[in-house]
Amino acid sequence: MKKAKPYVMAEGEDTGTILKPLVFRTDETTPKVVQSVLLERGWNEFDRKEHNVEGWNLYWKTSSFRMIEHTNVKPWQRLNHHPGTTKLTRKDRLAKYLMYMKRVYGTSIYEFVPLTFIMPGDYNKFVAEYSKEKQMLGTKQSYWICKPAELSRGRGIIIFSDIKDLIFDDTDIVQKYICNPLLVGKYKCDLRVYVCVTGFKPLTIYIYQEGLVRFATEKFDLSNLQNNYAHLTNSSINTSGTSYEKIKEVIGHGCKWTLSRFFSYLRSFDVDHVLLWQKISHMVILTMLAFAPSVPCATNCFELFGFDILIDDNFKPWLLEVNYSPALSLGCKADVTVKRKVIHDIVELIHLNGPRNEGKEGGNAFPGLSNVSFAKSDKGRLSNVCSSLPYGSLLQFTSRAFKKDESTKGKAARICPKNTRTSQLREMISKQNLLLMAKEPPKVKSKLKSRHSPHKISLSYVSLFPSYTCKTSISSSFLSDNSKEPDPQAGNFVLIFPFNEATYGASRNGLNVKRIVQELQKQMNKQHSRVGGNKTKR
Ligand code: ADP
Repeated sequence: MKKAKPYVMAEGEDTGTILKPLVFRTDETTPKVVQSVLLERGWNEFDRKEHNVEGWNLYWKTSSFRMIEHTNVKPWQRLNHHPGTTKLTRKDRLAKYLMYMKRVYGTSIYEFVPLTFIMPGDYNKFVAEYSKEKQMLGTKQSYWICKPAELSRGRGIIIFSDIKDLIFDDTDIVQKYICNPLLVGKYKCDLRVYVCVTGFKPLTIYIYQEGLVRFATEKFDLSNLQNNYAHLTNSSINTSGTSYEKIKEVIGHGCKWTLSRFFSYLRSFDVDHVLLWQKISHMVILTMLAFAPSVPCATNCFELFGFDILIDDNFKPWLLEVNYSPALSLGCKADVTVKRKVIHDIVELIHLNGPRNEGKEGGNAFPGLSNVSFAKSDKGRLSNVCSSLPYGSLLQFTSRAFKKDESTKGKAARICPKNTRTSQLREMISKQNLLLMAKEPPKVKSKLKSRHSPHKISLSYVSLFPSYTCKTSISSSFLSDNSKEPDPQAGNFVLIFPFNEATYGASRNGLNVKRIVQELQKQMNKQHSRVGGNKTKR
Protein backbone atom coordinates (compact mmCIF):
# COMPACT_ATOMS: atom_id res chain seq x y z
CA MET A 1 0.00 0.00 0.00
CA LYS A 2 1.53 3.33 -1.06
CA LYS A 3 1.52 5.93 1.73
CA ALA A 4 1.53 9.60 0.91
CA LYS A 5 4.62 11.51 1.97
CA PRO A 6 4.10 14.39 4.40
CA TYR A 7 3.94 17.59 2.43
CA VAL A 8 2.65 21.08 2.96
CA MET A 9 1.06 22.83 0.03
CA ALA A 10 1.93 26.39 -0.80
CA GLU A 11 -1.68 27.48 -0.89
CA GLY A 12 -2.00 26.07 2.62
CA GLU A 13 0.93 28.11 3.79
CA ASP A 14 -0.44 31.44 2.76
CA THR A 15 -3.89 30.78 4.18
CA GLY A 16 -2.41 29.49 7.40
CA THR A 17 -4.23 26.19 7.08
CA ILE A 18 -2.98 22.68 7.42
CA LEU A 19 -3.61 20.34 4.53
CA LYS A 20 -4.21 16.68 5.15
CA PRO A 21 -4.99 13.76 2.94
CA LEU A 22 -8.62 13.00 2.36
CA VAL A 23 -9.96 9.88 4.00
CA PHE A 24 -12.18 7.21 2.45
CA ARG A 25 -14.32 4.63 4.17
CA THR A 26 -15.08 1.21 2.83
CA ASP A 27 -16.84 -1.98 3.76
CA GLU A 28 -16.39 -5.50 2.47
CA THR A 29 -18.42 -4.68 -0.66
CA THR A 30 -16.37 -1.68 -1.80
CA PRO A 31 -14.89 -2.39 -5.23
CA LYS A 32 -11.12 -2.91 -5.15
CA VAL A 33 -10.66 -0.40 -7.95
CA VAL A 34 -12.17 2.36 -5.81
CA GLN A 35 -9.72 1.65 -3.03
CA SER A 36 -6.75 1.46 -5.35
CA VAL A 37 -7.61 4.68 -7.20
CA LEU A 38 -8.12 6.61 -3.99
CA LEU A 39 -4.86 5.35 -2.51
CA GLU A 40 -3.12 6.26 -5.74
CA ARG A 41 -4.53 9.77 -5.39
CA GLY A 42 -2.96 10.02 -1.98
CA TRP A 43 -6.06 9.42 0.10
CA ASN A 44 -5.88 7.52 3.37
CA GLU A 45 -8.16 4.68 4.28
CA PHE A 46 -10.35 5.27 7.31
CA ASP A 47 -9.06 3.57 10.39
CA ARG A 48 -11.12 3.64 13.56
CA LYS A 49 -8.01 3.63 15.73
CA GLU A 50 -6.40 6.49 13.90
CA HIS A 51 -9.34 8.65 12.86
CA ASN A 52 -12.15 10.36 14.61
CA VAL A 53 -15.50 8.65 13.99
CA GLU A 54 -16.52 11.47 11.66
CA GLY A 55 -13.06 11.91 10.19
CA TRP A 56 -13.73 10.66 6.70
CA ASN A 57 -14.69 12.31 3.42
CA LEU A 58 -16.03 9.60 1.16
CA TYR A 59 -17.88 6.41 2.02
CA TRP A 60 -18.18 4.10 -0.97
CA LYS A 61 -20.03 0.82 -0.77
CA THR A 62 -22.04 -1.38 -3.10
CA SER A 63 -25.22 -1.54 -1.06
CA SER A 64 -27.36 1.42 -0.09
CA PHE A 65 -27.02 3.53 3.04
CA ARG A 66 -29.55 3.66 5.82
CA MET A 67 -31.61 6.84 5.97
CA ILE A 68 -29.98 7.71 9.29
CA GLU A 69 -26.58 7.65 7.56
CA HIS A 70 -27.92 10.14 5.05
CA THR A 71 -29.33 12.43 7.70
CA ASN A 72 -26.13 12.31 9.74
CA VAL A 73 -23.81 13.09 6.87
CA LYS A 74 -21.45 15.99 7.59
CA PRO A 75 -20.67 18.83 5.20
CA TRP A 76 -17.22 17.39 4.43
CA GLN A 77 -18.55 13.90 3.73
CA ARG A 78 -19.93 12.25 0.58
CA LEU A 79 -21.88 9.02 0.18
CA ASN A 80 -21.87 7.12 -3.10
CA HIS A 81 -25.63 6.46 -3.11
CA HIS A 82 -28.76 8.55 -2.99
CA PRO A 83 -31.53 7.13 -0.85
CA GLY A 84 -34.13 5.03 -2.64
CA THR A 85 -32.30 4.54 -5.90
CA THR A 86 -32.25 0.74 -5.80
CA LYS A 87 -35.85 0.68 -7.01
CA LEU A 88 -34.90 2.20 -10.34
CA THR A 89 -32.73 -0.75 -11.06
CA ARG A 90 -35.33 -3.46 -10.52
CA LYS A 91 -36.58 -4.23 -14.00
CA ASP A 92 -40.27 -4.28 -13.03
CA ARG A 93 -40.06 -0.97 -11.16
CA LEU A 94 -38.19 0.70 -13.98
CA ALA A 95 -40.84 -0.60 -16.37
CA LYS A 96 -43.60 0.82 -14.14
CA TYR A 97 -41.99 4.24 -13.97
CA LEU A 98 -41.46 4.36 -17.70
CA MET A 99 -44.96 3.10 -18.50
CA TYR A 100 -46.35 5.90 -16.37
CA MET A 101 -44.24 8.45 -18.24
CA LYS A 102 -45.38 7.00 -21.56
CA ARG A 103 -49.00 7.37 -20.51
CA VAL A 104 -48.59 10.94 -19.31
CA TYR A 105 -46.12 12.37 -21.82
CA GLY A 106 -46.74 10.23 -24.87
CA THR A 107 -45.33 7.10 -26.36
CA SER A 108 -43.34 8.98 -28.97
CA ILE A 109 -40.96 10.61 -26.51
CA TYR A 110 -40.52 7.37 -24.54
CA GLU A 111 -40.13 5.21 -27.63
CA PHE A 112 -36.73 3.96 -26.46
CA VAL A 113 -38.37 1.52 -24.04
CA PRO A 114 -39.13 -1.91 -25.52
CA LEU A 115 -42.75 -2.92 -24.99
CA THR A 116 -42.79 -4.52 -21.52
CA PHE A 117 -45.27 -6.58 -19.51
CA ILE A 118 -44.92 -7.14 -15.78
CA MET A 119 -45.88 -10.67 -14.87
CA PRO A 120 -48.20 -12.06 -13.74
CA GLY A 121 -50.42 -8.94 -13.69
CA ASP A 122 -49.96 -8.13 -17.36
CA TYR A 123 -50.30 -11.68 -18.63
CA ASN A 124 -53.61 -11.10 -20.40
CA LYS A 125 -52.36 -7.92 -21.99
CA PHE A 126 -49.30 -9.81 -23.18
CA VAL A 127 -51.42 -12.58 -24.71
CA ALA A 128 -53.51 -9.99 -26.53
CA GLU A 129 -50.40 -8.29 -27.93
CA TYR A 130 -48.82 -11.61 -28.84
CA SER A 131 -51.93 -12.69 -30.75
CA LYS A 132 -52.21 -9.34 -32.52
CA GLU A 133 -48.61 -9.61 -33.70
CA LYS A 134 -49.07 -13.20 -34.77
CA GLN A 135 -51.96 -12.15 -36.97
CA MET A 136 -50.06 -9.22 -38.39
CA LEU A 137 -46.88 -11.15 -39.12
CA GLY A 138 -48.58 -14.20 -40.62
CA THR A 139 -45.97 -16.87 -41.03
CA LYS A 140 -43.17 -14.65 -39.73
CA GLN A 141 -42.11 -15.13 -36.12
CA SER A 142 -42.30 -12.59 -33.32
CA TYR A 143 -39.67 -12.66 -30.59
CA TRP A 144 -39.91 -12.05 -26.85
CA ILE A 145 -37.59 -12.13 -23.86
CA CYS A 146 -38.54 -13.04 -20.30
CA LYS A 147 -36.27 -11.67 -17.56
CA PRO A 148 -36.34 -12.00 -13.77
CA ALA A 149 -36.93 -8.53 -12.35
CA GLU A 150 -34.41 -8.84 -9.58
CA LEU A 151 -31.65 -10.92 -11.07
CA SER A 152 -28.65 -9.67 -12.98
CA ARG A 153 -25.84 -11.02 -15.18
CA GLY A 154 -28.22 -12.71 -17.58
CA ARG A 155 -29.41 -15.22 -14.99
CA GLY A 156 -32.80 -16.84 -15.60
CA ILE A 157 -33.40 -15.18 -18.99
CA ILE A 158 -35.33 -16.99 -21.72
CA ILE A 159 -35.93 -15.87 -25.29
CA PHE A 160 -38.93 -17.31 -27.07
CA SER A 161 -41.03 -17.04 -30.14
CA ASP A 162 -43.83 -19.39 -29.31
CA ILE A 163 -45.95 -18.55 -26.25
CA LYS A 164 -45.93 -22.18 -25.21
CA ASP A 165 -42.20 -21.76 -24.41
CA LEU A 166 -42.93 -19.01 -21.91
CA ILE A 167 -42.46 -20.06 -18.32
CA PHE A 168 -42.65 -17.19 -15.90
CA ASP A 169 -42.36 -16.47 -12.26
CA ASP A 170 -44.24 -13.79 -10.35
CA THR A 171 -41.27 -11.44 -10.48
CA ASP A 172 -40.54 -11.67 -14.19
CA ILE A 173 -41.00 -9.19 -16.98
CA VAL A 174 -41.69 -10.11 -20.58
CA GLN A 175 -40.32 -7.72 -23.16
CA LYS A 176 -40.24 -7.36 -26.90
CA TYR A 177 -37.01 -8.94 -28.05
CA ILE A 178 -35.06 -6.52 -30.26
CA CYS A 179 -34.41 -8.95 -33.07
CA ASN A 180 -32.57 -6.56 -35.39
CA PRO A 181 -29.60 -5.55 -33.24
CA LEU A 182 -26.67 -3.70 -34.74
CA LEU A 183 -24.12 -6.42 -35.39
CA VAL A 184 -20.39 -5.92 -35.37
CA GLY A 185 -18.81 -8.66 -37.42
CA LYS A 186 -22.08 -10.61 -37.03
CA TYR A 187 -21.95 -10.36 -33.21
CA LYS A 188 -24.60 -8.71 -31.09
CA CYS A 189 -23.47 -6.06 -28.64
CA ASP A 190 -24.81 -3.64 -26.07
CA LEU A 191 -23.40 -0.48 -24.50
CA ARG A 192 -22.65 0.17 -20.86
CA VAL A 193 -23.02 3.91 -20.45
CA TYR A 194 -22.00 5.45 -17.13
CA VAL A 195 -24.12 8.21 -15.69
CA CYS A 196 -23.46 10.11 -12.50
CA VAL A 197 -26.26 11.94 -10.74
CA THR A 198 -24.72 14.43 -8.37
CA GLY A 199 -28.11 15.58 -7.13
CA PHE A 200 -31.78 14.69 -7.49
CA LYS A 201 -32.95 17.89 -5.87
CA PRO A 202 -32.08 19.80 -7.99
CA LEU A 203 -31.62 17.17 -10.67
CA THR A 204 -28.06 17.22 -12.01
CA ILE A 205 -26.97 14.55 -14.47
CA TYR A 206 -23.59 13.84 -16.03
CA ILE A 207 -22.90 11.33 -18.76
CA TYR A 208 -19.53 9.68 -19.17
CA GLN A 209 -17.98 10.08 -22.58
CA GLU A 210 -16.32 6.70 -22.45
CA GLY A 211 -17.76 3.35 -21.58
CA LEU A 212 -17.88 -0.25 -22.56
CA VAL A 213 -19.33 -2.28 -25.38
CA ARG A 214 -20.07 -5.86 -24.49
CA PHE A 215 -20.28 -8.49 -27.20
CA ALA A 216 -21.92 -11.83 -27.52
CA THR A 217 -19.21 -14.31 -28.45
CA GLU A 218 -21.15 -16.43 -30.93
CA LYS A 219 -22.74 -15.18 -34.12
CA PHE A 220 -26.26 -13.80 -33.86
CA ASP A 221 -28.75 -16.36 -35.08
CA LEU A 222 -32.51 -16.14 -34.65
CA SER A 223 -32.95 -19.77 -35.56
CA ASN A 224 -31.44 -20.82 -32.24
CA LEU A 225 -32.93 -18.81 -29.38
CA GLN A 226 -31.43 -21.08 -26.74
CA ASN A 227 -27.86 -20.05 -27.43
CA ASN A 228 -27.05 -17.54 -24.70
CA TYR A 229 -23.59 -16.90 -26.18
CA ALA A 230 -25.27 -15.48 -29.27
CA HIS A 231 -28.20 -13.61 -27.70
CA LEU A 232 -26.97 -12.32 -24.35
CA THR A 233 -24.15 -9.83 -24.15
CA ASN A 234 -23.41 -10.19 -20.44
CA SER A 235 -19.68 -10.58 -19.86
CA SER A 236 -20.34 -12.97 -16.99
CA ILE A 237 -21.88 -15.35 -19.53
CA ASN A 238 -19.54 -14.79 -22.44
CA THR A 239 -16.26 -15.01 -20.55
CA SER A 240 -17.18 -18.61 -19.68
CA GLY A 241 -17.82 -19.62 -23.32
CA THR A 242 -15.35 -21.44 -25.52
CA SER A 243 -15.36 -18.60 -28.07
CA TYR A 244 -14.23 -15.99 -25.57
CA GLU A 245 -10.53 -16.61 -26.19
CA LYS A 246 -10.92 -16.99 -29.97
CA ILE A 247 -10.08 -14.19 -32.38
CA LYS A 248 -13.51 -13.27 -33.71
CA GLU A 249 -14.42 -11.48 -36.92
CA VAL A 250 -13.99 -7.70 -36.42
CA ILE A 251 -14.33 -7.79 -32.63
CA GLY A 252 -11.15 -9.78 -32.10
CA HIS A 253 -10.25 -11.44 -28.85
CA GLY A 254 -12.44 -11.33 -25.73
CA CYS A 255 -15.87 -9.74 -25.49
CA LYS A 256 -15.37 -6.05 -24.71
CA TRP A 257 -14.45 -2.86 -26.45
CA THR A 258 -14.22 0.63 -25.10
CA LEU A 259 -17.01 2.91 -26.25
CA SER A 260 -14.47 5.12 -28.02
CA ARG A 261 -13.32 2.17 -30.11
CA PHE A 262 -16.95 1.40 -30.98
CA PHE A 263 -17.63 5.00 -31.96
CA SER A 264 -14.57 5.16 -34.15
CA TYR A 265 -15.76 1.93 -35.77
CA LEU A 266 -19.13 3.60 -36.45
CA ARG A 267 -17.40 6.69 -37.78
CA SER A 268 -15.51 4.58 -40.26
CA PHE A 269 -18.92 3.69 -41.72
CA ASP A 270 -20.04 7.32 -41.74
CA VAL A 271 -22.62 6.70 -39.05
CA ASP A 272 -23.96 9.87 -37.44
CA HIS A 273 -22.53 8.92 -34.06
CA VAL A 274 -23.15 12.40 -32.67
CA LEU A 275 -26.86 11.97 -33.29
CA LEU A 276 -26.73 8.55 -31.66
CA TRP A 277 -25.04 10.01 -28.60
CA GLN A 278 -27.65 12.76 -28.42
CA LYS A 279 -30.40 10.16 -28.46
CA ILE A 280 -28.66 8.28 -25.69
CA SER A 281 -28.34 11.45 -23.65
CA HIS A 282 -32.05 12.18 -24.11
CA MET A 283 -32.85 8.66 -23.03
CA VAL A 284 -30.81 9.09 -19.87
CA ILE A 285 -32.54 12.37 -18.99
CA LEU A 286 -36.02 11.00 -19.68
CA THR A 287 -35.33 7.93 -17.58
CA MET A 288 -34.08 10.00 -14.67
CA LEU A 289 -37.10 12.29 -14.96
CA ALA A 290 -39.37 9.30 -14.48
CA PHE A 291 -37.75 8.53 -11.25
CA ALA A 292 -36.38 11.76 -9.77
CA PRO A 293 -39.61 13.01 -8.14
CA SER A 294 -39.74 9.92 -5.93
CA VAL A 295 -36.20 10.22 -4.58
CA PRO A 296 -36.14 11.56 -1.03
CA CYS A 297 -34.21 14.72 -0.46
CA ALA A 298 -30.64 14.11 0.66
CA THR A 299 -27.47 16.11 0.43
CA ASN A 300 -23.83 15.19 -0.07
CA CYS A 301 -24.44 12.11 -2.09
CA PHE A 302 -23.96 11.07 -5.68
CA GLU A 303 -24.77 7.97 -7.64
CA LEU A 304 -23.04 6.17 -10.45
CA PHE A 305 -25.50 4.30 -12.67
CA GLY A 306 -24.78 1.90 -15.49
CA PHE A 307 -27.24 2.20 -18.38
CA ASP A 308 -27.44 -0.88 -20.60
CA ILE A 309 -28.34 0.19 -24.10
CA LEU A 310 -28.89 -1.87 -27.21
CA ILE A 311 -28.53 -0.26 -30.63
CA ASP A 312 -30.60 -1.70 -33.45
CA ASP A 313 -29.62 -1.81 -37.11
CA ASN A 314 -31.41 1.52 -37.68
CA PHE A 315 -29.11 3.09 -35.06
CA LYS A 316 -31.95 3.50 -32.67
CA PRO A 317 -30.94 3.05 -29.02
CA TRP A 318 -33.13 0.94 -26.73
CA LEU A 319 -32.95 1.03 -22.96
CA LEU A 320 -32.54 -2.46 -21.53
CA GLU A 321 -31.94 -1.65 -17.91
CA VAL A 322 -30.38 0.70 -15.40
CA ASN A 323 -27.83 -0.76 -13.02
CA TYR A 324 -27.32 0.37 -9.49
CA SER A 325 -23.69 -0.04 -8.38
CA PRO A 326 -22.54 -1.07 -11.86
CA ALA A 327 -19.83 -3.71 -11.85
CA LEU A 328 -16.39 -2.22 -11.27
CA SER A 329 -14.35 -5.40 -11.44
CA LEU A 330 -11.39 -5.32 -13.78
CA GLY A 331 -11.64 -8.39 -15.99
CA CYS A 332 -9.88 -7.20 -19.13
CA LYS A 333 -7.91 -4.33 -20.62
CA ALA A 334 -11.02 -2.35 -21.61
CA ASP A 335 -12.30 -2.59 -18.02
CA VAL A 336 -9.03 -1.26 -16.65
CA THR A 337 -8.93 1.64 -19.12
CA VAL A 338 -12.50 2.70 -18.50
CA LYS A 339 -13.34 1.89 -14.91
CA ARG A 340 -10.23 3.29 -13.25
CA LYS A 341 -10.75 6.57 -15.01
CA VAL A 342 -14.43 6.61 -14.10
CA ILE A 343 -13.41 6.57 -10.44
CA HIS A 344 -10.76 9.23 -10.94
CA ASP A 345 -13.26 11.43 -12.73
CA ILE A 346 -15.95 10.92 -10.10
CA VAL A 347 -13.54 12.21 -7.49
CA GLU A 348 -13.01 15.27 -9.66
CA LEU A 349 -16.72 15.65 -10.21
CA ILE A 350 -17.71 15.57 -6.57
CA HIS A 351 -15.02 18.08 -5.71
CA LEU A 352 -12.97 15.83 -3.53
CA ASN A 353 -9.78 16.12 -5.46
CA GLY A 354 -7.47 17.95 -3.16
CA PRO A 355 -6.09 17.68 0.30
CA ARG A 356 -8.49 18.51 3.05
CA ASN A 357 -7.81 21.44 5.06
CA GLU A 358 -7.78 22.25 8.71
CA GLY A 359 -7.45 25.46 10.62
CA LYS A 360 -4.15 26.28 12.34
CA GLU A 361 -5.70 25.32 15.62
CA GLY A 362 -5.72 21.70 14.63
CA GLY A 363 -9.07 21.35 12.93
CA ASN A 364 -11.77 20.24 15.30
CA ALA A 365 -13.62 18.55 12.48
CA PHE A 366 -10.96 15.86 12.44
CA PRO A 367 -9.52 15.63 15.92
CA GLY A 368 -8.06 12.22 15.17
CA LEU A 369 -5.69 13.45 12.50
CA SER A 370 -2.44 15.08 13.32
CA ASN A 371 -0.05 14.56 10.40
CA VAL A 372 0.38 17.40 8.00
CA SER A 373 0.48 15.78 4.63
CA PHE A 374 -0.54 15.88 1.04
CA ALA A 375 -0.25 13.26 -1.60
CA LYS A 376 2.25 14.16 -4.29
CA SER A 377 0.88 11.27 -6.30
CA ASP A 378 -2.47 13.02 -6.65
CA LYS A 379 -0.78 15.93 -8.37
CA GLY A 380 1.01 13.74 -10.88
CA ARG A 381 -2.04 11.73 -11.73
CA LEU A 382 -4.28 14.69 -12.17
CA SER A 383 -2.30 15.90 -15.12
CA ASN A 384 -2.68 12.45 -16.68
CA VAL A 385 -6.42 12.57 -16.32
CA CYS A 386 -6.58 15.51 -18.58
CA SER A 387 -4.07 14.31 -21.09
CA SER A 388 -6.42 12.67 -23.55
CA LEU A 389 -10.11 12.23 -23.92
CA PRO A 390 -11.44 9.42 -25.97
CA TYR A 391 -13.68 10.44 -28.79
CA GLY A 392 -12.27 12.58 -31.50
CA SER A 393 -15.42 13.94 -32.90
CA LEU A 394 -17.71 13.64 -29.94
CA LEU A 395 -15.34 15.80 -28.07
CA GLN A 396 -14.92 18.23 -30.87
CA PHE A 397 -18.60 18.58 -30.61
CA THR A 398 -18.33 19.30 -26.94
CA SER A 399 -15.31 21.47 -27.25
CA ARG A 400 -17.04 23.53 -29.89
CA ALA A 401 -19.71 24.23 -27.37
CA PHE A 402 -17.10 25.07 -24.78
CA LYS A 403 -15.38 27.44 -27.13
CA LYS A 404 -18.62 29.19 -27.80
CA ASP A 405 -19.05 29.59 -24.12
CA GLU A 406 -15.51 30.74 -23.57
CA SER A 407 -15.80 33.43 -26.14
CA THR A 408 -18.54 35.02 -24.13
CA LYS A 409 -17.12 34.31 -20.74
CA GLY A 410 -13.69 32.82 -20.27
CA LYS A 411 -14.96 30.51 -17.61
CA ALA A 412 -16.16 27.23 -19.04
CA ALA A 413 -13.70 24.40 -19.12
CA ARG A 414 -11.79 23.49 -22.22
CA ILE A 415 -11.04 19.90 -23.02
CA CYS A 416 -7.51 20.12 -21.77
CA PRO A 417 -6.59 23.68 -21.14
CA LYS A 418 -3.22 24.69 -19.76
CA ASN A 419 -4.77 25.94 -16.61
CA THR A 420 -6.60 22.67 -16.29
CA ARG A 421 -10.12 22.07 -15.12
CA THR A 422 -8.43 19.98 -12.50
CA SER A 423 -6.50 22.88 -11.15
CA GLN A 424 -9.66 24.97 -11.11
CA LEU A 425 -11.36 22.21 -9.18
CA ARG A 426 -8.38 21.90 -6.87
CA GLU A 427 -8.65 25.57 -6.16
CA MET A 428 -12.37 25.24 -5.62
CA ILE A 429 -12.08 22.37 -3.18
CA SER A 430 -9.43 24.26 -1.33
CA LYS A 431 -11.83 27.17 -0.97
CA GLN A 432 -14.72 24.91 -0.07
CA ASN A 433 -12.70 23.13 2.54
CA LEU A 434 -11.78 26.38 4.07
CA LEU A 435 -15.39 27.28 4.34
CA LEU A 436 -16.53 23.95 5.62
CA MET A 437 -13.78 22.98 7.91
CA ALA A 438 -11.87 25.90 9.26
CA LYS A 439 -13.19 27.15 12.55
CA GLU A 440 -11.89 30.63 11.87
CA PRO A 441 -12.38 30.99 8.14
CA PRO A 442 -9.10 32.33 6.73
CA LYS A 443 -8.52 35.01 4.12
CA VAL A 444 -9.85 33.01 1.22
CA LYS A 445 -13.34 33.28 2.55
CA SER A 446 -13.42 36.95 1.84
CA LYS A 447 -12.39 36.19 -1.75
CA LEU A 448 -15.19 33.71 -1.97
CA LYS A 449 -17.58 36.20 -0.55
CA SER A 450 -16.65 38.79 -3.07
CA ARG A 451 -17.12 36.25 -5.84
CA HIS A 452 -20.69 35.78 -4.78
CA SER A 453 -21.48 39.24 -3.64
CA PRO A 454 -22.71 40.72 -6.90
CA HIS A 455 -26.42 40.25 -7.24
CA LYS A 456 -26.04 38.56 -10.55
CA ILE A 457 -24.03 35.42 -10.98
CA SER A 458 -23.19 33.89 -14.26
CA LEU A 459 -24.34 30.45 -15.17
CA SER A 460 -22.55 28.77 -17.97
CA TYR A 461 -22.44 25.13 -18.81
CA VAL A 462 -22.10 22.89 -21.73
CA SER A 463 -23.57 19.68 -22.90
CA LEU A 464 -23.26 17.36 -25.83
CA PHE A 465 -25.90 19.40 -27.50
CA PRO A 466 -24.29 22.49 -28.97
CA SER A 467 -27.52 24.38 -29.07
CA TYR A 468 -28.05 23.65 -25.39
CA THR A 469 -24.92 25.47 -24.37
CA CYS A 470 -26.14 28.49 -22.60
CA LYS A 471 -24.97 31.40 -20.65
CA THR A 472 -27.42 33.23 -18.61
CA SER A 473 -27.64 35.40 -15.61
CA ILE A 474 -29.77 34.59 -12.68
CA SER A 475 -30.22 36.49 -9.55
CA SER A 476 -28.21 34.98 -6.71
CA SER A 477 -31.08 35.74 -4.37
CA PHE A 478 -32.95 32.85 -5.97
CA LEU A 479 -30.19 30.41 -5.31
CA SER A 480 -30.39 28.12 -2.36
CA ASP A 481 -27.27 26.24 -1.23
CA ASN A 482 -28.42 23.41 -3.40
CA SER A 483 -28.66 25.59 -6.43
CA LYS A 484 -25.00 26.11 -7.13
CA GLU A 485 -24.37 26.22 -10.81
CA PRO A 486 -23.33 22.76 -11.94
CA ASP A 487 -19.86 22.28 -13.40
CA PRO A 488 -19.96 21.69 -17.13
CA GLN A 489 -17.44 18.90 -17.08
CA ALA A 490 -15.09 16.92 -14.89
CA GLY A 491 -12.76 14.58 -16.72
CA ASN A 492 -14.98 12.62 -19.07
CA PHE A 493 -18.16 13.44 -17.17
CA VAL A 494 -20.18 15.99 -19.10
CA LEU A 495 -23.24 17.74 -17.80
CA ILE A 496 -26.38 16.78 -19.73
CA PHE A 497 -28.98 18.06 -17.31
CA PRO A 498 -29.91 20.86 -16.83
CA PHE A 499 -29.14 21.66 -20.45
CA ASN A 500 -30.47 25.17 -20.90
CA GLU A 501 -31.86 28.10 -19.01
CA ALA A 502 -35.42 26.77 -19.11
CA THR A 503 -34.52 23.36 -17.72
CA TYR A 504 -32.27 24.96 -15.15
CA GLY A 505 -35.26 26.98 -13.96
CA ALA A 506 -37.62 24.02 -14.15
CA SER A 507 -35.43 21.90 -11.91
CA ARG A 508 -34.54 24.29 -9.13
CA ASN A 509 -37.58 24.83 -6.97
CA GLY A 510 -39.17 21.45 -7.36
CA LEU A 511 -38.97 19.49 -10.57
CA ASN A 512 -41.31 20.68 -13.28
CA VAL A 513 -41.24 17.49 -15.32
CA LYS A 514 -43.82 18.66 -17.83
CA ARG A 515 -41.82 21.76 -18.67
CA ILE A 516 -38.60 19.77 -18.99
CA VAL A 517 -40.22 17.17 -21.26
CA GLN A 518 -41.46 20.04 -23.45
CA GLU A 519 -37.91 21.38 -23.72
CA LEU A 520 -36.58 17.96 -24.59
CA GLN A 521 -39.29 17.53 -27.18
CA LYS A 522 -38.26 20.81 -28.77
CA GLN A 523 -34.67 19.65 -28.96
CA MET A 524 -35.68 16.33 -30.42
CA ASN A 525 -37.82 18.04 -33.05
CA LYS A 526 -34.86 20.21 -34.01
CA GLN A 527 -32.76 17.09 -34.21
CA HIS A 528 -35.29 15.41 -36.52
CA SER A 529 -35.53 18.41 -38.79
CA ARG A 530 -31.72 18.61 -38.93
CA VAL A 531 -31.50 14.95 -39.88
CA GLY A 532 -34.39 15.33 -42.34
CA GLY A 533 -32.69 18.39 -43.86
CA ASN A 534 -29.38 16.54 -44.25
CA LYS A 535 -31.13 13.65 -45.96
CA THR A 536 -32.87 15.99 -48.41
CA LYS A 537 -29.59 17.72 -49.22
CA ARG A 538 -28.00 14.38 -50.07
P1 ADP B 1 -29.42 -8.69 -16.66
O1 ADP B 1 -29.70 -7.75 -15.55
O2 ADP B 1 -29.68 -10.11 -16.28
O3 ADP B 1 -28.09 -8.47 -17.30
P2 ADP B 1 -30.56 -7.40 -19.01
O4 ADP B 1 -31.87 -6.76 -19.13
O5 ADP B 1 -29.38 -6.49 -19.00
O6 ADP B 1 -30.54 -8.36 -17.74
O7 ADP B 1 -30.40 -8.42 -20.19
C1 ADP B 1 -29.26 -9.24 -20.36
C2 ADP B 1 -28.89 -9.27 -21.81
O8 ADP B 1 -29.98 -9.79 -22.59
C3 ADP B 1 -28.61 -7.91 -22.39
O9 ADP B 1 -27.28 -7.55 -22.17
C4 ADP B 1 -28.94 -8.10 -23.86
O10 ADP B 1 -27.87 -8.70 -24.55
C5 ADP B 1 -30.08 -9.10 -23.81
N1 ADP B 1 -31.39 -8.42 -23.82
C6 ADP B 1 -32.10 -8.01 -22.75
N2 ADP B 1 -33.27 -7.45 -23.11
C7 ADP B 1 -33.30 -7.50 -24.45
C8 ADP B 1 -34.25 -7.09 -25.42
N3 ADP B 1 -35.41 -6.53 -25.07
N4 ADP B 1 -33.96 -7.29 -26.72
C9 ADP B 1 -32.79 -7.86 -27.10
N5 ADP B 1 -31.86 -8.28 -26.22
C10 ADP B 1 -32.09 -8.12 -24.91
